[in-house]
Amino acid sequence: MKKISLFCGTLLLVSCASSPVSSSNGVTTIETPKTQSAATIASGKRTFELYKQTKAQTSNVQVARVGSRVKSVVSMPSAEWEFVTFSNSTPNAFALPGGKVGIHTGILPIAKTDAGLAAIVAHEIAHVTLNHSEKRASRSALTGLGGSILNAALGGGYDSVISTGSALAINLPNSRSQEIAADQVGLIYMAQAGYDPREAISFWERFSAYKKSAGSGASSEFFSTHPLDSQRIAKLKEVLPLALAEYQKH
Ligand SMILES: [Zn+2]
Repeated sequence: MKKISLFCGTLLLVSCASSPVSSSNGVTTIETPKTQSAATIASGKRTFELYKQTKAQTSNVQVARVGSRVKSVVSMPSAEWEFVTFSNSTPNAFALPGGKVGIHTGILPIAKTDAGLAAIVAHEIAHVTLNHSEKRASRSALTGLGGSILNAALGGGYDSVISTGSALAINLPNSRSQEIAADQVGLIYMAQAGYDPREAISFWERFSAYKKSAGSGASSEFFSTHPLDSQRIAKLKEVLPLALAEYQKH
């Protein structure tokens, strides 16, 4: 019981934090953490390599094209960006420290257009630049909930080749406030890359419709812990004017 209230308290503190996106005199600023530990980056890269070895991949020109365009607006010297398409019908995407982004083929029909896919890719890139996975790991250690969440996430079926720590990096959910922050920062990135940010809202509406049609059985980064669709769209709209201003510079 005590653990649960501590967990809620932590979440509450995080969600009170202001958006990493701000604007002054027409200049949009994204506040990202100054440092990311070398160990975190190395662990992200290692996990991605293991993941690639155990999961079916396919090449996809759309993912390559959109990934390359969005990453070009991001300044993060420690990242070695890589966008890999995995053959998996579950509509999902994930990001790991070091600039590693995985996109499931199952999300492509919902992404539909390059701009729709850019919304997903930019959201995942923002998880990396905002260093969410490191914060997530320390949050779970802090609350003592890491083990139980991990067990639930693993569900017994996870590849044994992927170590506990690595599985944690992929499966432990982001917090709701991290999701909102990744949405808002991602919206700016996609706009700076020349994709119409209004398409992010259209994408989330399509995804919301998909979820309703698919039922509640599905579980993925994009299903289980993401904020309510209405809340997420409202938060996107808060930064839409800034994103549109960036988009119109093109
Ligand atoms: Zn996310």
